[in-house]
Amino acid sequence: MKTRKCLDRIDNYVPGKPIDEVKREMGLSDVVKLASNENPLGPSQLALAALRKAVEEVHIYPDGNCYYLKQGLARVHQLTPENFLVGNGSDGIIKMLAETFVSADEEVIVPDPSFSEYIFATRLLEGNEVKVPLDKSYTCDLRAMLAALNERTRMIYICSPNNPTGTVNSKRQMDAFLAKVPQDVIVVIDAAYCEYAESEDYTWGGEYISQYPNVVVLRTFSKIYGLAGLRVGYAMADAALIAKLHMAREPFNSNSLALAGALAALDDDAHVEASRKLNSEGKRYLYAEFEKLGMPYIPTEANFIMVDVGMDSVKLFQELLKRGVIVRTGNIFGMDNWVRVTIGNAEENARFIRDLKEITGR
Ligand SMILES: *Cc1c(COP(=O)(O)O)cnc(C)c1O
Repeated sequence: MKTRKCLDRIDNYVPGKPIDEVKREMGLSDVVKLASNENPLGPSQLALAALRKAVEEVHIYPDGNCYYLKQGLARVHQLTPENFLVGNGSDGIIKMLAETFVSADEEVIVPDPSFSEYIFATRLLEGNEVKVPLDKSYTCDLRAMLAALNERTRMIYICSPNNPTGTVNSKRQMDAFLAKVPQDVIVVIDAAYCEYAESEDYTWGGEYISQYPNVVVLRTFSKIYGLAGLRVGYAMADAALIAKLHMAREPFNSNSLALAGALAALDDDAHVEASRKLNSEGKRYLYAEFEKLGMPYIPTEANFIMVDVGMDSVKLFQELLKRGVIVRTGNIFGMDNWVRVTIGNAEENARFIRDLKEITGR
């Protein structure tokens, strides 16, 4: 079947294995997913209550303009509704960014390894990604990204905290970088995990919106807000840039349940705080266990950890799967002996460590 040539370069996304699939395939009843950085506390109760109400109205088209959610976002971030675009997950916005800014043979600079959707969207629009390896501390290398700029460059992606390494760029690095990027190049800061960051000098980029007309910050309700199944994320940027993005938007790209759930979750500070605390405790537990096992890990600012398990990650993955624990293998990120494990609740973390010990014999 003849398809567009650009599809020849597109690999199917490798999702974290769904829990039900593992239950079916392995004949297990108790399966833990530590593969997609979901919130072990589940969704906000406020969001659930709003969803129950909204479900009665699903025969009505959603508000394509997302009036209430944008009002809420403007209030929380002290900007105007015109500074926001809501999407079917940040994934949906990453695609819209490519549709808006990337033409055939133009370039998008991406960190490597990082989130695969940046490359997917670029290739789908017949653009070319320019991969810039992370620096020695597994962080987006902003200097090398500047060096990769040329007259074909349309966008640069920064992922901070970076998926899969959990590393962040400091505010100082970001300030120096943004001052040097030409204003006709769009800088996208993907801050999907920003709520988990603990380092003092971190910035998720919100302050740059009023300063730089070419900066877009991506946020999502899929991670700390615990609403991954609803598919809702948003872009923040200068109103003129947001207006351009709207041209690539499908009329009803956010569903009514997503909008209702996200709006309620936005004000659930207690849920966010509890999630952050649980993650921080889990992180410290896992660090201590990895140290006892002599396994190097990358200190993380997110809700997942890359750990060097000293064996083929696909083998470890399969062994963990038999025991009902799903993680992400490092080979998809070019890190063959590493796995990326989502920080779960205390019980899930302990189960992962127990199985890891058993499999590696350490
Ligand atoms: C999970 C994730 C997202 C969020 O994707 P949604 O489509 O909003 O669920 C965005 N960026 C990165 C780096 C992620 O890991």
